[in-house]
Amino acid sequence: MTAISATAKTTHTRFRRVLIKVSGEALMGDKPYGQDLDTIQRIAADLKSVVALGVEVCVVVGGGNIFRGISGAAKGMERASADYMGMLATVLNGLAIQNILEGMGVPTRVLSAIEMQQVCEPYIRRRALRHMEKGRVVIFAGGIGSPYFTTDTTAALRASEMQCDALMKGTQVDGVYDADPKKNPNATRFEHLTYHDVLSKDLKVMDAAAISLARENHIPILVFSIHEPGNCVRIINGEGKFTTISDIRN
Ligand code: UDP
Repeated sequence: MTAISATAKTTHTRFRRVLIKVSGEALMGDKPYGQDLDTIQRIAADLKSVVALGVEVCVVVGGGNIFRGISGAAKGMERASADYMGMLATVLNGLAIQNILEGMGVPTRVLSAIEMQQVCEPYIRRRALRHMEKGRVVIFAGGIGSPYFTTDTTAALRASEMQCDALMKGTQVDGVYDADPKKNPNATRFEHLTYHDVLSKDLKVMDAAAISLARENHIPILVFSIHEPGNCVRIINGEGKFTTISDIRN
């Protein structure tokens, strides 16, 4: 097992620092619920390859594989309490990714927006930056720490706070389509969209709050399939299939 040194390396890629959004759903594999360790292992191997490029990496992890506030609310729970349960679910996923990455020799820190000092560090922006400078993968858990938000909005917020060069949004398919490609074989993939396109066409890639935040802070969003091994590095190198969402349409 090759350990990755905890000192920052020089990078020759187009990005110095990226935020990778890993949804809870991505961690389920073929299971209907919960964590599939083989799948997490594969995603962790991809994250390790990005670190090996010398790129600073932070991750926002979702919780939809375990609990979604909105589903709890639909069954009669108070929405805010249900959302807190969802936020706690993201911590379970953060710890699983941490464990597997560290088993691969990648130094990590989990920083939670909801304090739980026996389990992980609290979110402190400057500390997160320092960890990344030292070559550690920072895993943001607990969403933004408030109900009524999503981990997509968290990803846009943390990417802005961390001054990331890109927000890489891992999804089930290889980009943004004009219809659901799993249901409609004629769906076409967009190569490039503006933030305004996504909002005005109401494309279901990230919620409007996340897109607006990324737009205000000029963070390009790269939407790619998290299920293809090696994709993170490929996309950082501008190769493979993905959709770019930014200020300008190329
Ligand atoms: N959540 C929240 N505030 C946040 C982030 C998440 O209340 O800032 C809750 C919300 O209930 C959400 C759940 O945590 O349904 C899991 O997050 P999300 O649905 O974004 O996960 P993903 O879809 O990425 O798996």
